[in-house]
Amino acid sequence: MEKNERCLSCSDCGLYHCDKQDKHYPEFCPTVATSEEELREIGELYMHDPTDSVVFRAAAAVEGETYGKITRVEEVVRFAKKIGAKKIGVVSCMGLINEAKTFTKVLQANGLDYICIACKTGAQDKSKYGIPEEGKIHPGQYEASCNPILQARIMNRAKTDLNVIVGLCVGHDSLFMKHSDAIVTTLVAKDRVLLHNPAAALYGSGFYYRRIFEEIK
Ligand code: SF4
Repeated sequence: MEKNERCLSCSDCGLYHCDKQDKHYPEFCPTVATSEEELREIGELYMHDPTDSVVFRAAAAVEGETYGKITRVEEVVRFAKKIGAKKIGVVSCMGLINEAKTFTKVLQANGLDYICIACKTGAQDKSKYGIPEEGKIHPGQYEASCNPILQARIMNRAKTDLNVIVGLCVGHDSLFMKHSDAIVTTLVAKDRVLLHNPAAALYGSGFYYRRIFEEIK
């Protein structure tokens, strides 16, 4: 798409009137473009849908009651309790299995049941799923494929109430979310370079990470 064809959106805004109601909406504002009818219909979901209303209220309560006071680990546990979750699916990357284990201890300490499934479950060499040898990190060797669809299926069979991602790869997380029956939240967004703080590349984009504005191939 040509640059001038791009539709303007919130990243082009400096007014943020939706947030504070102290300025005005820009012409391209998606709030202005949204009908009262659609907002009402969404409000119905937040207030009365059996799943959306519970999740929405729990998210608001976690934010409102402990804003800036507790870590995301604690927020996830509080959220789980507020939606009445009994069994938590911990969906772990093998590279973060120790952190996943620690998290299961937190769940245990809070009286929550859990099942933890690591990404290499199924033990299939990448070549079995069509990944060429040259696409492996170490070509010519057994290299277990991540298996997010299997992770989701196991969680679905276990009838988890909430699935928590601990560091799945980009894209594998997408497949897991697509195939998960239960709602999903992310505890850890994996970044192998920045020790799971992907925002650091954005914070550092003024100098050390200027390269992110170059074409990424
Ligand atoms: S919704 Fe409108 S006012 Fe809010 S950030 Fe987006 S463009 Fe700006």
